[in-house]
Amino acid sequence: MHEQTLAIHAGYEKDAMGTMAVPIYQTTAYEFRDTEHAANLFALKELGNIYTRLMNPTTDVFEKRFAALEGGVAAIGTASGMAAIFYAIANVAEAGDNIIVAKQVYGGTTTLTGHTIKRFGIETRYFDVRNPSEIEALVDDKTKIIIFESITNPSIDVADIDAIVEIAQKHNIITCVDNTVGTPVLCKPLAHGVDLTVHSTSKYTTGQGLALGGIIVERENLVEKIKGNPRYEHFNTPDESYHGLVYSDLPLPLFTLRVRLALLRDLGGAPSPFNSWLHIQGLETLPLRMKQHSSSALAIAEFLETHPKVKKVNYPGLKSSKQHALAQKYFKEGMASGLLSFEVESKEEAQAMADATEIFSVVVNIGDSKSIITHPASTTHQQLSDRELIEAGIPGGLVRLSVGLEDTQDLIEDLKKALG
Ligand code: PLP
Repeated sequence: MHEQTLAIHAGYEKDAMGTMAVPIYQTTAYEFRDTEHAANLFALKELGNIYTRLMNPTTDVFEKRFAALEGGVAAIGTASGMAAIFYAIANVAEAGDNIIVAKQVYGGTTTLTGHTIKRFGIETRYFDVRNPSEIEALVDDKTKIIIFESITNPSIDVADIDAIVEIAQKHNIITCVDNTVGTPVLCKPLAHGVDLTVHSTSKYTTGQGLALGGIIVERENLVEKIKGNPRYEHFNTPDESYHGLVYSDLPLPLFTLRVRLALLRDLGGAPSPFNSWLHIQGLETLPLRMKQHSSSALAIAEFLETHPKVKKVNYPGLKSSKQHALAQKYFKEGMASGLLSFEVESKEEAQAMADATEIFSVVVNIGDSKSIITHPASTTHQQLSDRELIEAGIPGGLVRLSVGLEDTQDLIEDLKKALG
């Protein structure tokens, strides 16, 4: 089936009432047929609903639909994108382990990996996404996962996915792509051999800035990389918290299953059914919206490139971009999503320009139907040190745009006036 059809139908079987819209199962818990049924569900002898912290029928449709669009075998929804990233790490790494992460990632991912998980005894080693060969020197036998973004936020670099996967395969390490900006419509990391994707579904998936959410998607046959692999011992040895279950022995997608059974069970962070329902509404129009976001962003990037006050434009859809070839390779028809950034002379000029726009809202979000302008150095990336800012490619004069779905010409006029 084609993408637009999957976006509207995948994962949903109509109930006896023939309900066209996916129902919202706004419930905390589910009644068991009897105590034996309950015991069977807890023992995984039967699969079924137990409690909404673990699973929910509305969220289940969202997970199946998202996995179908991304080309994965299973997915697990979380309360936010940050929860998804944390669970992807916590599912493989523990004190004494290390993970490898691109320097150019969302600010929350930088603080999570550089500060918070350090306190759990997990070390993060960073590589420049523009130079994947740096990964080789960072790997040792305690390395558990390599994480990078398909298009980086906010420095707008396109990752050379094949080059990173090649190094990871050599060392049998799990790879995880944050495909939030790429979206499952424009970019398919799993088809390039990536093992997992994570998304903040708070962005393009919900599409109108309506709900927080996150998701982890698992590729088919990930068990082949994990079974017997000494890096992932806890998937290959009995889980004492689950009656001695050995995940790599199960005929089920094991990574997302372990997130559900162990991490959602113990840490919470599950999505609300209503937010899953909003995400389902978003997915229905995602393929259509991404075309418009991408074509408007390209027109705006072309305009900015010719403006005398703009020193540099970062948008891989531009023919002049050093990353144009990578965007052509990894993004559907070269459509490079709705995020772009550009540099003006100074921090003050960047802030004055953002304040002078009328259609663009000064907001720290992306992927909304409403256009957004952000000054990362004073907001999303404020907690980063000067060194971290430079490493993440965020000079003071950098302005980020999340191009929405308004008329393209109106957006260009708004920027023209604001730049003066
Ligand atoms: N990953 C990327 C690329 C993001 O842009 C964001 C948020 O902006 C996140 C993850 C975190 O997602 P959330 O805000 O849903 O926790």
